[in-house]
Amino acid sequence: MTETLKGIAASDGVAVAPAYLLVEPDLSFEKKTVSDVDAEVARFEKAIADSKAELENIRSVAVKSLGEDEAKVFDAHLLFLSDPEFTGQIENEIKNSTENSEAALDAVAQNFITIFESMTDNEYMQERAADVRDVSKRIMAHLLGKELPNLAAIDHEVVLVAEDLTPSDTAQLNKDYVKGFVTDLGGRTAHSAIMARSLEIPAVVGTQKITTSVKNGQMLIADGLDGVAIVEPTDEQVAEYTKKGEDFAKQKAEWRKLKNEPSVTADGKRFTIAANIGTPDDLDGVLENGAEAVGLFRTEFLYMNSNDFPTEEDQFEAYKKVLEGMNGKQVIIRTMDIGGDKHLSYWDLPEEMNPFLGIRAIRLSLKNQEIFRTQLRALLRASAYGKLGIMFPMIGTLDELHQAKAVLKEEKDKLVAKGVKVGDDLQVGMMIEVPAAAVLADQFAKEVDFFSIGTNDLIQYTMAADRGNEHVSYLYQPYNPSVLRLIKHTIDSAHEAGIWCGMCGEAAGDSIMFPILLSMGLDEYSMSATSVLRIRSEMKKLSTADLADLADKATKESLTSEENIALVKKIMADK
Ligand code: PEP
Ligand code: MG
Repeated sequence: MTETLKGIAASDGVAVAPAYLLVEPDLSFEKKTVSDVDAEVARFEKAIADSKAELENIRSVAVKSLGEDEAKVFDAHLLFLSDPEFTGQIENEIKNSTENSEAALDAVAQNFITIFESMTDNEYMQERAADVRDVSKRIMAHLLGKELPNLAAIDHEVVLVAEDLTPSDTAQLNKDYVKGFVTDLGGRTAHSAIMARSLEIPAVVGTQKITTSVKNGQMLIADGLDGVAIVEPTDEQVAEYTKKGEDFAKQKAEWRKLKNEPSVTADGKRFTIAANIGTPDDLDGVLENGAEAVGLFRTEFLYMNSNDFPTEEDQFEAYKKVLEGMNGKQVIIRTMDIGGDKHLSYWDLPEEMNPFLGIRAIRLSLKNQEIFRTQLRALLRASAYGKLGIMFPMIGTLDELHQAKAVLKEEKDKLVAKGVKVGDDLQVGMMIEVPAAAVLADQFAKEVDFFSIGTNDLIQYTMAADRGNEHVSYLYQPYNPSVLRLIKHTIDSAHEAGIWCGMCGEAAGDSIMFPILLSMGLDEYSMSATSVLRIRSEMKKLSTADLADLADKATKESLTSEENIALVKKIMADK
């Protein structure tokens, strides 16, 4: 039966394809004694053989779609399946205890996990605990006749369905097959949504119940333009939404014509439209979409896509690649923003009650200075290869900024003393994403070369509404006069101090927000690469005279977000 679910439009475009559920099955089992031990051992051996065949298949699909490196994890799993130490112990357990395979597997696997996890002085062996967990889960699924989902195994067009997607799930998506995704949880600025936009995959998030509404293989429409998901659509709906997707593609083709045009208003005022990236691979999208700079390189993805801390050399190469790829255009690289919803499998940080209010970003960097200093050295060395801006995330106090700058200076002085070349026009800036920093922007502006406003966090902290929680998404209000006052104060403070101010939060690419920001005189707009040409086309339609009093009205006269939406719509109506 057709069912329509309303969610949050997280990434533009329309996808129509069978659903693929990335949902873990229930693997609980009953402990039983068995009368025929040999038959039970044979049942276990069959589960091992099936798991092996399945893993080999997943591995070969993963090599083709994701590359050898990403597929390596499966080699470790295959090794365990062939290891008599592991499988032999389980068979012995079945024979000795006369318990069923599920119980024997569980007991032996737990034992292995405990041993590996206790090897606190051997990180490599500790990490093997995760392999045992994964392999046992696969064998258990075969014993119970259940199917485990696996992103790497997808080899046909699908719309992915999940409760939520972690940033590392999203990093593994193969665009050739994953045509869109729909989730139960999440908001427009959750990192999975941001990644979907950079991959140009339509996405609908926060539907609250897609995982229970759709079954594997059922037809599913993901309308990322209006935030709608349709399970088992009618033929008419399939035709209608396919056309909607095609119309959007045509609109995109129109925007494409602006690729090599400058970013100017109708009255000839120039601004910079930049793009946000997560890895050097995203550079293709930046260049294809004609962005004039990289306004935010979220370096934490370098850490997340790795099995250990990336070395100084690895980081240097990645930063250099982006700087060289941008060929002299500005590149703003943000020091790592780990914490919040971004974790590293190899960095065991304490659990926090409120991770978004905890040890995140610069707080974590200042507490773990060796990791921070390694990153800064890589950045400083790379600065010789282009026009680099180093940016600190989540600065809340002047003291944090002073500490971060002092560490940067120490590392720079040491490199220079060794004769290492550092760029002469290196800029040092900070994100304005903590309300305390926005309020004190006039003081911060005296100490940096630029600001970049991170609205994704600035809004969540100002409105006290988790950016990824669909239940409070109504409070996530970029156009709320309170948020706009903080933004205007930040821009005015930057200009009074003679520095430039950009925005790298998602609001910079929002069609309602954009005229307001333009009227405030924001200098640089950094967004998902796929939004660049749309905003350039909108900029061409607006003249600064049209917007002369918009900033004042939006911050001083309007009382609500809705009033500001109406103000902008009125201006745009005759454009
Ligand atoms: C922001 O908070 O607006 C921002 C750009 O940073 P992130 O989305 O990575 O937290
Ligand atoms: Mg942020």
